[in-house]
Amino acid sequence: MLTRNTDKEIRMAGIGASPGICIGKAYIVDREGVDVVEKYSLEDDKVEGEKKRFRDAVRLAREELKTIIDNTPDEIRQHTNIFEIHIALLKDKMLYGKTLDFIGSERVNAEWALKKVSTDVKAMFRNMEDNYFQERASDISHVSDRIMRNLVGMEMESISDIDKRVILIAHDLSPTDTSQIRLEKIKGFVTDRGGKASHTSIIARTLEIPAVLGMGNATEMIRNDDVIIVDGTTGIVIINPTEKTLFDFEDRKARYEVQKALIAKSGQLVAQTIDGVRIQIHGNIELPEEVVSVIDYGGDGIGLYRTEFQYLSRAYFPTEKELYDKYKEVVEMMYPKSVTIRTLDINGDKAVAYATDIEDNPALGLRAIRYCLKKPEVFKTQLRAILRAAVFGNTRILFPMISSCEEIREAKAMLEEAATSLEEAKIPFNRDVEIGIMIEVPSAVIMAEAMADEVDFFSIGTNDLIQYSLAIDRGNRKVAHLYQPFHPAIIQMIKHVVEVGKKKGKQVCMCGEMAGDPLAIPILLGLGIDELSMNPQSIPAVKQITRMISVSEAEEFIKVVLKKTTAKEINELLEKTYGRLVSEQIYS
Ligand code: PEP
Ligand code: MG
Repeated sequence: MLTRNTDKEIRMAGIGASPGICIGKAYIVDREGVDVVEKYSLEDDKVEGEKKRFRDAVRLAREELKTIIDNTPDEIRQHTNIFEIHIALLKDKMLYGKTLDFIGSERVNAEWALKKVSTDVKAMFRNMEDNYFQERASDISHVSDRIMRNLVGMEMESISDIDKRVILIAHDLSPTDTSQIRLEKIKGFVTDRGGKASHTSIIARTLEIPAVLGMGNATEMIRNDDVIIVDGTTGIVIINPTEKTLFDFEDRKARYEVQKALIAKSGQLVAQTIDGVRIQIHGNIELPEEVVSVIDYGGDGIGLYRTEFQYLSRAYFPTEKELYDKYKEVVEMMYPKSVTIRTLDINGDKAVAYATDIEDNPALGLRAIRYCLKKPEVFKTQLRAILRAAVFGNTRILFPMISSCEEIREAKAMLEEAATSLEEAKIPFNRDVEIGIMIEVPSAVIMAEAMADEVDFFSIGTNDLIQYSLAIDRGNRKVAHLYQPFHPAIIQMIKHVVEVGKKKGKQVCMCGEMAGDPLAIPILLGLGIDELSMNPQSIPAVKQITRMISVSEAEEFIKVVLKKTTAKEINELLEKTYGRLVSEQIYS
């Protein structure tokens, strides 16, 4: 284990998961649990009593989790289903059943039985060497730790009880922990584990607090009350900064905040290039509450409404009425601007407790459109809700994770069935909605020409396109350095899709994270993309860069980019040509 033997300034690098700078005292969140567990044998007549003690501790853990769910602010609650997963794990056969059996067969105390069983289950998951199962091991830890604390009568440290303004340092913050963060108390956080696309990172961006994840050894290097600087934009964490470093970062923080406010002000201006080409800049949302940020930051519409978040953090599927109410709210609020509603993209890394089977390889499993086509009732309920909401504004439908023409045809047939059922029931709806597909699987890029004949528009999802083309798990910190939007293969794929769109007269949008990176804009304009959709906070900066370059210049630039054969060369070229412009405008 690495430890620190100096009080001098130390700089460490992790993954910048949520931008901004914070400076303050570190607060280590102890999530190691109860380490020392005594073992003792039971008389035969005590075994049933011990099993009951274990069941009571599980029941209490369940109540605690339910209280956490009830006390979690709505805007956070919808972002994670982890509470439901933990509640389900409490009664999991492997943990619950085996612990009860172990108490009975070995006639030992519940703490010892739980420790033994949970250690075995965790080892089993960890040995699978698969990121998804390693995550399950950490869920088992969270859950067994909670039961153990109840067995030994120990209080669980709650993040919501922290009463000083601090920066949290943790090995891993579960979304349950992150959702307890109160903005007036927590300035930012740093974790050893996690990647940019993890739930924890999504929540940090929603809360707009700086966060650096995937540090590897932050909990070993940082001590309670150390003064630290967290730069979530660059992913740098500085322990015990010198006076000079503190001064520099105070200054950088102030400039960042002024700049952010200034840029936000300019968000309402249109994104028109120097040579007069108007680019549509839309916002991505997960929940209706986020529509306000899209409007405030100057979005021209909603280019991606990730509807799956309404299915998370609950115990059963939402009804057509619940879905319709939310979609109608969004469509009405944005009117006359357009709203692109993406149909359910569950599973993969967005498991839903009541709808997810354990899969060996969930990223390649029954995710998104594949799940919906297998569950026509779930799918048609959503499609009916979208068609009904479309009466109130400008609505488009987007199908995720399409990998073949058959899937598009089947999805359209189900949309038709949904429309017919509404017609028969004389329920008002609008059939006149544009249909698009996400281009996020390499086979969709290759088949783009045939697919264009089936749809009205394409939306390129670079988050998954990079994951599936470069074979890089988007949430795995160990391969985060290989997750490269500027990989020449990715640029070639975007180029091909845009060319097909132009040839077939179909609009091509991009809604993956790449669209919100100001440095990517010269490339995307050079390739001729029509519309970009991004995290609302990124809208003003992207609009600003768009206003500072011309399409003709970007078209010349892309010719040079296309000659490069590595992501490194393209990054260097971008930095050399546009780095200064971007950093002066955005991060100065
Ligand atoms: C993408 O894959 O780029 C995308 C926008 O979808 P999500 O991040 O929801 O998978
Ligand atoms: Mg995707």
